[in-house]
Amino acid sequence: MVIDPKIREELKRKLLEEKSRVEEELSRFAKPTGIPGDYETRFNDIGTDVDENASEVEEYVDNLALENTLEKELKDANEALARMDQGIYGICENCHKEIDLQRLIAYPAAKTCIKCK
Ligand SMILES: [Zn+2]
Repeated sequence: MVIDPKIREELKRKLLEEKSRVEEELSRFAKPTGIPGDYETRFNDIGTDVDENASEVEEYVDNLALENTLEKELKDANEALARMDQGIYGICENCHKEIDLQRLIAYPAAKTCIKCK
């Protein structure tokens, strides 16, 4: 199955949108390390009280978890865009069969078909 060029363009647009949304979210609390797609959570120093230190650490730990999730989303979107360029977009990474179009529309960065998910 060849993906209709119009649908492919639409999926590409969604992926680029996803990429900028994730990058924007990351930039709120993290800074790029210089390695593409890699970010470092900033430690926000709000004060020196025990309470303030506890909130700083709590916030930092929460942000670290969010950083990991967002970096993964960014990586998935970038990889999907790379697969589009290579002409292998929409092929399951695991069983090498075509991924159902409905699944790609729902989740354009999908790497695997529903069975292999
Ligand atoms: Zn599969």
